[in-house]
Amino acid sequence: MPAPLRLRLDGDALVQNWRTLDRMSGTAACGAAVKANGYGLGAIEVARRLADAGCRDFFVSNWQEAAELAPLGLRVSVLHGIREEDMPAATAGFARPVLNTPTQVARWKAAGGGSCDVMVDTGMNRLGVSADDIAGGLLDGLAIETLMSHLACADQDSPMNAAQRDRFAALAGTTSARRMSLANSAGIALKGYAFDLTRPGLALYGGIPRADMTAIRQVVRPEAQILQRRRVSAGDTVGYNALWTAKNDTEVAILNVGYADGYRRDFTNIGAAVVSGRVLPVLGRVSMDLVAIGVDAASDLDEGDWVMLDYALPTSAAASGLSQYELLTGLGQRFERVWTTS
Ligand SMILES: *Cc1c(COP(=O)(O)O)cnc(C)c1O
Repeated sequence: MPAPLRLRLDGDALVQNWRTLDRMSGTAACGAAVKANGYGLGAIEVARRLADAGCRDFFVSNWQEAAELAPLGLRVSVLHGIREEDMPAATAGFARPVLNTPTQVARWKAAGGGSCDVMVDTGMNRLGVSADDIAGGLLDGLAIETLMSHLACADQDSPMNAAQRDRFAALAGTTSARRMSLANSAGIALKGYAFDLTRPGLALYGGIPRADMTAIRQVVRPEAQILQRRRVSAGDTVGYNALWTAKNDTEVAILNVGYADGYRRDFTNIGAAVVSGRVLPVLGRVSMDLVAIGVDAASDLDEGDWVMLDYALPTSAAASGLSQYELLTGLGQRFERVWTTS
């Protein structure tokens, strides 16, 4: 069956973004967060491309995501660690747990231990054991590959960044960990936060969490198809709740994409399609499966033609109030993921 929608994914831009982040990581190795199905792009396709480029450390949230990557034979860490029901998967050896709590540490030791990672909380108060737990000997006897922590405010210039870095640095040499890892995408742009291994996600996929990360290239471009072209008379309205009114007679095209595909309602009267450099504005409310755009500037477009939505992440996030993470991870299953070169 022909796909109704396409997500164009620029494989060269993805690899170039990883190389850029690897260079910015200095002497630290650069890994890749591929959780949430590679932020919506497709975890297997992303991981395969990055492994070919030299990436050696991959991060997912849970064991289902790790199992999906298992055929690739990569080094995968599972960020949410081990629940009791995860133990058969966790002891099968296709991925390594990131232990987050004293209970998880005890569970792993009881199962015979083996190589693991550990998350320590340095101020975000999300996941992780505490520095006091470590000082109290919680991690003694564990074979730790990577000790990691996570920054709460890396996309801002916040005093929390240096405070977290210093608390983390103070743990060097206090555990058996071979490596230390702190920085996500935004943390890579901070100086002195790379330690031994960085863990970018968002910026691999074209997200720009800090304005100074200008070398990051767009990877994801949604495309939709025109189902109908119509003329709307001056004074008439378009869409649910009549949120757009034609000032003049206006050419309108109806696209087969909507909020059920992740093209969120927040783009109502704000989003746009871009065709050969022409910006075609969203008119009125985004529906579940449809959206209207103005095509006065595109007399050539007709039923069946494909148009690309403006989905540049930093500007789309600023315009819509959504985060770049939501824009990526919300893209739905009706899009066929089409990998291209640039
Ligand atoms: C998701 C995640 C990352 C990647 O973060 P980005 O902001 O997408 O670069 C890194 N580390 C941990 C622990 C994460 O959960």
